[in-house]
Amino acid sequence: MSNIAVTHAASGLVYAEVARAERVTPHMVRVTLTGDDLRRFEHVGFDQWFRLALPVHGDAALRRMPQRFGMTGMLKWLAIGKDARPVIRNYTVRDFRPEMPELDIDFVVHGDDGTAGPWAQRAVAGERVAFIDQGCGWRGLASDWQLIAADESGLPAAAGILRDLPRGARGHAIIELFDARDRQAVEAPPGVTVHWLVRDPGEAPGARLLPFLADLAFPEGLPYAFVVGEQALAAAGRRHLVKERGIDRRHVTFSGYWKRGATSPS
Ligand SMILES: Cc1cc2nc3c(=O)[nH]c(=O)nc-3n(C[C@H](O)[C@H](O)[C@H](O)COP(=O)(O)OP(=O)(O)OC[C@H]3O[C@@H](n4cnc5c(N)ncnc54)[C@H](O)[C@@H]3O)c2cc1C
Repeated sequence: MSNIAVTHAASGLVYAEVARAERVTPHMVRVTLTGDDLRRFEHVGFDQWFRLALPVHGDAALRRMPQRFGMTGMLKWLAIGKDARPVIRNYTVRDFRPEMPELDIDFVVHGDDGTAGPWAQRAVAGERVAFIDQGCGWRGLASDWQLIAADESGLPAAAGILRDLPRGARGHAIIELFDARDRQAVEAPPGVTVHWLVRDPGEAPGARLLPFLADLAFPEGLPYAFVVGEQALAAAGRRHLVKERGIDRRHVTFSGYWKRGATSPS
């Protein structure tokens, strides 16, 4: 579930290769991409995200990937055939250095299940990937204050938004992790308080964030809220804001970034 509008950047499919991969915290691997084609990528910041094509069956089929990932693009991707087509997963631009050019992606390490998390753990320099820029979910609506709520999968998005908000912004960011050691330095405006919460092993995502959100004394005025992370966390966070706090639903952007026990649909 998500009310994020997908946009299509002019760059279409961008090719890149892994420059390096490093574990920045115990459960986060930062994969840095590089390559000349990255010069066509336009970084707009905030939670800018993309569909990443991972060449789990070799990189030959990357050249057959669609330029866009709408209905036609998805059909083109499906036509590649299950045994050859790259696996597609959604990720956030953690940072972009145009002068290099280099693009960082922070992958949550969540065990051996799935494709992207395990791929990041064994990614090596020179591996080829491709991605389709899908723009920002963050809409920056006119508001009196900002509210950001995320689990570890939304940490890159939260960090990007905090970095790119006007320095005069006010509000709260709530970031829930499953290991305190996965905390990262963020560049929040001085008026935005960042609350780091840690759930116990075995607790569902949102176990700490949702009660904290329910108890949080909201500043006066109209907020713009951004709630992302595990599906149930994002849905419950949005429900609380709209139904219990009476915030106009158009001022709440939310997205289930992943779902417990379910493989990503693309
Ligand atoms: C717009 C957007 C931006 C995103 N940005 C990022 C990002 O920058 N960094 C990031 O790490 N994730 C991000 N995600 C989430 C990421 O796309 C999912 O976690 C994805 O499912 C990972 O794919 P996978 O192949 O590793 O696992 P899948 O094949 O999708 O799932 C396999 C199993 O792993 C579980 N699983 C998947 N993700 C997680 C997780 N994070 N924690 C615990 N268990 C998990 C599933 O429940 C399932 O049981 C983003 C999602 C969206 C929609």
